[in-house]
Amino acid sequence: MQLTDRLTVLPGVGPKSAEKYLKLDLETVGDLLVYYPFRYEDFKSRDVLELLDGEKAVVVGQVVTPASVQYYGYKRNRLSFKIKQGEVVVGVSFFNQPYLADQIDLGEQVSIWGKWDLKKAALTGMKVLAQAQDDMQPIYHVGQGVTQANLVKLVTAAFQVGYHQLLEENLPQVLLEKYRLINRQAAVVAMHFPADIEQYRQALRRVKFEELFYYQLRLQVLREKTKSTDFGLSILYQQDLLDDRIKKLPFSLTDAQNRSLDEILKDMGSPRHMNRLLQGDVGSGKTVVAGLAMFAAVTAGFQAAIMVPTEILAEQHFASLTELFPDLSIALLTGSMKQSEKRLILEQIADGRVNMIVGTHALIQEGVSYHRLGLVITDEQHRFGVNQRRLFREKGEQPDVLMMTATPIPRTLAITAYGEMDVSIIDQLPAGRKPIVTRWVKHEQFEQVLDWLSSELEKGAQVYVISPLIEASEALDLKNATALAEDLQSYFKDQAKIALLHGKMKAQEKDDIMQGFKAKAIDLLVSTTVIEVGVNVPNATIMIIMDADRFGLSQLHQLRGRVGRGDKQSYAILVSNPKTESGKRRMSIMTETTDGFVLAEEDLKMRGSGELFGTRQSGIPEFQVADIVEDYPILEEARKMAAQIVQDPKWMDQADWEILARNLDQTSRFD
Ligand code: ADP
Ligand code: MG
Repeated sequence: MQLTDRLTVLPGVGPKSAEKYLKLDLETVGDLLVYYPFRYEDFKSRDVLELLDGEKAVVVGQVVTPASVQYYGYKRNRLSFKIKQGEVVVGVSFFNQPYLADQIDLGEQVSIWGKWDLKKAALTGMKVLAQAQDDMQPIYHVGQGVTQANLVKLVTAAFQVGYHQLLEENLPQVLLEKYRLINRQAAVVAMHFPADIEQYRQALRRVKFEELFYYQLRLQVLREKTKSTDFGLSILYQQDLLDDRIKKLPFSLTDAQNRSLDEILKDMGSPRHMNRLLQGDVGSGKTVVAGLAMFAAVTAGFQAAIMVPTEILAEQHFASLTELFPDLSIALLTGSMKQSEKRLILEQIADGRVNMIVGTHALIQEGVSYHRLGLVITDEQHRFGVNQRRLFREKGEQPDVLMMTATPIPRTLAITAYGEMDVSIIDQLPAGRKPIVTRWVKHEQFEQVLDWLSSELEKGAQVYVISPLIEASEALDLKNATALAEDLQSYFKDQAKIALLHGKMKAQEKDDIMQGFKAKAIDLLVSTTVIEVGVNVPNATIMIIMDADRFGLSQLHQLRGRVGRGDKQSYAILVSNPKTESGKRRMSIMTETTDGFVLAEEDLKMRGSGELFGTRQSGIPEFQVADIVEDYPILEEARKMAAQIVQDPKWMDQADWEILARNLDQTSRFD
């Protein structure tokens, strides 16, 4: 008996069903044991008076009316009867399962698994259970002809045969003790059939640690190995030319910018391959640091390219680079350019006539070839997928890589999400910026806000008003924004020129409105959340966010970051009557801090990873049980532990080392 035995050794599994299981990647009994449920159903009997509307639950009661079936159309019918739980009579209906009537006997107890309709005090039945069960029922990912019942039966069979006793402990004893983790066999059994919620929590904590620990250990072992061999380009830039440029900047760099630039230059100059993330809050001045790094590459005879997610940003960066380096030849490449224009630029890129290239995804298309591309930079890098980042890298021969992001996430998480890399942080805003004053007001106080706005407009202030976000409907968002703009216009009349900006507008229209706002032809801009990243109107000093509790912290922070860009005092007004505790909490945190890092950490605690990183293709390894945001504390602990082990091998004894060595190989799926 071995864990590598085919599933066909289990009773009831023939070659046919084995094929179905194979489609779920279940080949051996070992695979099956670690095919954990993704949730559980609690089949304990519930008191109907405690049920929420729409909740699924098991209700046990005495059948007080005979079951009757009504037919109303082809193959459509309804089985209904009433049950009594204590003093409460509950109507029960099953749709299109007339045969269940056999199981409903007047006067007997039944257990119904169903969905509660609070208004009608009725259950829509899904199952008649033999009896209420006290344990939690596992729910597996199924499909390909495999049912929940199949899997429950199969796992039960494997446990009955005793396969789980073959599972060897795969965590060193010192770690089990240090973190008080339950052993592997107990954990695996409890993952499938936990006796209660507490046992399940213990099992989950153990398997999550196991998963994240081996992931971290692997990363760090790999890093140790590649440290000495990972040669890239040595970019021998000319320090004097660079110093000269820095002197000529219209401002002096902040300490944080200087520090980050030094870290980047050091990587570039060394033969070691640079893979670095530059993190800095909105407005912290990442662009100029990127520009100087590009300039350094150019002084060493290399090309440097920067890729951004939108055309608006590409044009903005092109403009600022051209202003910083008027004497260099800089090219802009975007998807919407005319063919003839593009062809010319592609030639200049290929033969090295241009030194710096700014562009969108157009930069990584086939047919774009570079000339001694030594440095590639990705701005707002979380907006790109792994493949796009790889394609960009492969446009050069081992170019140094710099990624930039305004989403401040803890380092461990960044590495887990984006791979092994070094991180530089600009944790300081340029001098002279006044912190934005943030206030939270209720809708009832909006009149007062309008009063105050009126006097600020009188003094020449420019204002953004973000209209409420209505999930799932862009059309409704637009309707709301339009109504809001009209209301405000009729309130302020001639006092303010008001315009509307929304997602359905053409790029040109949006651009016209933004230009109008910049030129102060517009005083108040009502917008849906489409205000693009990077929009920069320093004279705008007031940001009003309607129904602010509908936004997450990071988004609120981004929106607020549209003001406070000049030397005038700026304000953010959050208008909301949050219904949930978390909504209230978000409002108060926003009034307490303008620090993006603090907000991001709070955001991490309050939300899941999906919202932070977007899609799957962001490159986050797909963990089986762990969620890197929710389980961030475990990830961080696992990282510390892995580092300690890699740096101090004597910390563990021989037996523990052997366990690690054996299991490190089996976690290679992260490579
Ligand atoms: P982000 O980090 O959000 O990309 P930007 O690079 O767009 O920020 O910089 C925001 C603004 O701050 C720009 O107008 C830029 O010229 C200005 N800036 C950058 N660094 C400094 C500095 N050290 N002192 C003053 N202004 C600066
Ligand atoms: Mg930027």
